[in-house]
Amino acid sequence: MEAEEGERMSRIIHMCLSVRGALNWSKAEMKRMAPCIEVEGKQLQTADEVKNFLLDELSKGHEVLPSGDCDNFDWKTGCKGHGKQEANQENP
Ligand SMILES: [Zn+2]
Repeated sequence: MEAEEGERMSRIIHMCLSVRGALNWSKAEMKRMAPCIEVEGKQLQTADEVKNFLLDELSKGHEVLPSGDCDNFDWKTGCKGHGKQEANQENP
């Protein structure tokens, strides 16, 4: 474990999606999101499918869903941040 207290490096926080928040979407919004969600290799198509997917996630204890390429993700609180260390890539 490393703590980086006192030092503020540029940090990346991925966006995440609240499952409960998404359940409040209108049908139209859910339908719009459907193609963005893939379950078992299959894209969702209807609002009902999206809703079922969200309920499924909740039943797994997932409060949030990752968005993007996140490898430091907590299913309750979302992205925990990435301490991005920028390598010096300056060419003389
Ligand atoms: Zn992340």
